[in-house]
Amino acid sequence: MAFGWIDEQAELRRRAGLVRTLRPRPADSPLLDLASNDYLGLTRHPEVVEGAAAAARTWGGGATGSRLVTGTTELHTTLERELAEFCGFEAALVLSSGYAANLAAVTALAPHGSLIVSDAGNHASLIDGCRLARGTTQVIGHADPEGARKALGTHDGPAVVVSDTVFSVDGDAAPLAGYARACREHGAGLLVDDAHGLGVLGEGGRGAPHAAGLAGADDVVTTLTLSKSLGSQGGAVLGPARVIDHLVNAARTFIFDTGLAPAAAGSALAALRLLRREPERAARARAVAAELHARLTAAGLEAVPPDAAVVSVRAPSPEQAVRWAADCRSAGLAVGCFRPPSVPDGISRLRLTARGDLSEAQIEQAVRVIDATRP
Ligand code: PMP
Repeated sequence: MAFGWIDEQAELRRRAGLVRTLRPRPADSPLLDLASNDYLGLTRHPEVVEGAAAAARTWGGGATGSRLVTGTTELHTTLERELAEFCGFEAALVLSSGYAANLAAVTALAPHGSLIVSDAGNHASLIDGCRLARGTTQVIGHADPEGARKALGTHDGPAVVVSDTVFSVDGDAAPLAGYARACREHGAGLLVDDAHGLGVLGEGGRGAPHAAGLAGADDVVTTLTLSKSLGSQGGAVLGPARVIDHLVNAARTFIFDTGLAPAAAGSALAALRLLRREPERAARARAVAAELHARLTAAGLEAVPPDAAVVSVRAPSPEQAVRWAADCRSAGLAVGCFRPPSVPDGISRLRLTARGDLSEAQIEQAVRVIDATRP
């Protein structure tokens, strides 16, 4: 039977208790949210919502075409200019998602005959970029500048080191300075994904490359998502203007994709302007993360020290992680649950978002529920 193998896979998943299901989220959910990526709590901010609504009124419900045909509005170009300025890069290119931005950047920067050196903890979208690219990929250890140096030393020709700035599963930060040094020793480029750094790390949330003194360098490119701290949807690649021009001409997920919806560009732009006006939002998200971690650790839970706004709590097994997250939900708390095969190291964990807009009482409530429902 066609697709018969799907049923076999489904049965294996069912037996392992690892079936994933989609659950619509009510607009007025009573749950305390530590599961979303709305790091700064901006997605429902009136200015962000109005940014989307005004853009839709002016430009319509969609971009109407690819960026190179009819899909570029002045909102897109303004957003690109302001994103680049804010994060300290020369130029930016907005795409329809962070996923598409990573596919675009990796494929465009790794031509035939090149080497891609990829951190073992990288996000799926960077991994898929490596799979799509014409260059050869060498996966190094997690947070391993020495591994990068060795890999680069074996290759003659163009090379790029690819890493998340903040790893999405454990919330730990990459050794950006070490990666940059290894790249510079070998004349390689550095491509980092700052999905979890923008809005949280660096002065006023300018991101991890800015914090590491790497923003604007002629050998550094960063990708972003507009869907986390900026509370919108979409992605971007930031870097030297000549790299961005190259992407416009060579990146297939840019060229053949419909432009970002104007409403998404409008809300991202509103959120970016809010962040520029209220830089304390970034520090507050970091402070909430530190407090969550301290309280969880004090309760005897095993939590990874957070480098940004993701707090990861170890669970003894995938089944217990799933049950723990479900019990939290029954007690009014939404948390993320990461388990195999989403985590290559096989370690299951709850993933908490230290939203900058959480109150002291909410932090306390979250820790109380996680502690009371522990396996
Ligand atoms: N990179 C990282 C590190 C991410 O966590 C995500 C989103 N989960 C993405 C890229 C993809 O971004 P988007 O959701 O905008 O496609």
